[in-house]
Amino acid sequence: MKNTRILSLILCLLLLPVSAFAETVTASFFPIYLFASNLLSGVEGITLHSLASPDTGCLHDYQLSSGDLKALSSSDLFLINGAGMESFLSSVFEAFPDLPLVDASEGIELLPSESGETEFNAHIWLTPDNAVRMSENLARGLIKAFPDKEAAIQANLDNWTERLQALDLELEEGLKDLKRRDLLTFHEAFPYFAQRYGLQVLAVIAKEPDDALSTGELARLVSLVQKNNLPPLFTEPQYPALAAEVLSRETGAPLYKLDPCVTPPEGELPPDWYETVMRSNLSVLREALN
Ligand SMILES: [Zn+2]
Repeated sequence: MKNTRILSLILCLLLLPVSAFAETVTASFFPIYLFASNLLSGVEGITLHSLASPDTGCLHDYQLSSGDLKALSSSDLFLINGAGMESFLSSVFEAFPDLPLVDASEGIELLPSESGETEFNAHIWLTPDNAVRMSENLARGLIKAFPDKEAAIQANLDNWTERLQALDLELEEGLKDLKRRDLLTFHEAFPYFAQRYGLQVLAVIAKEPDDALSTGELARLVSLVQKNNLPPLFTEPQYPALAAEVLSRETGAPLYKLDPCVTPPEGELPPDWYETVMRSNLSVLREALN
């Protein structure tokens, strides 16, 4: 019995593709995957996966599937956003107490959540300066796990940090002089961005992305929008726009789209996708607020 098991194990190992012997790093969801893919660019022998499929968006209410557990069981390192985004974390600890974990939110000053479902607002990745700190945390964890890759990971971090700092300056410059600075966003994704660049999120249209707008809530938002002289309303490409469309129709406030950078484009992921999304948000904001 024992021998058969050993034999079949050997057979399995022989049949495994070479890549199965690479170290496997799993990122919880798309923004973390995107940052880690910049840090691991050109680094050989490490395979990076995203736990949640890339079209998931934010992990609000995300439930671990059996496939997710299987993926984690063969991971050498788990990279998370932290700040409460991974609400399933305790089940991961329970199932894999020895899986090393890197929390990208470490040291970041968190804003309170207004949805009431979590303590902190977890959308920390939406400012380049937070992205720098998150990437530093991720790089530190990766280097600790794979010390022989330190030089390559550090060089990638330096390059990525430089790009993020340039992006931050561009956003700061572009959002300096605007006719108005107030807006309504679809869900609670942009408070860090607003705080960094001096914008004011008057309200969110949906407290949780999948919430429907109740009649009472709609009436409250209509009056808020009217009282504030019709600030622009923003939908998000990952979520249905119906609630914002109704609010726009009721008030005449203009509708635009802001992307919280939680999904990749179709096809291969360009390494500068974060910059592309943020630059497109910048131009939309300049149009909407001028
Ligand atoms: Zn979200």
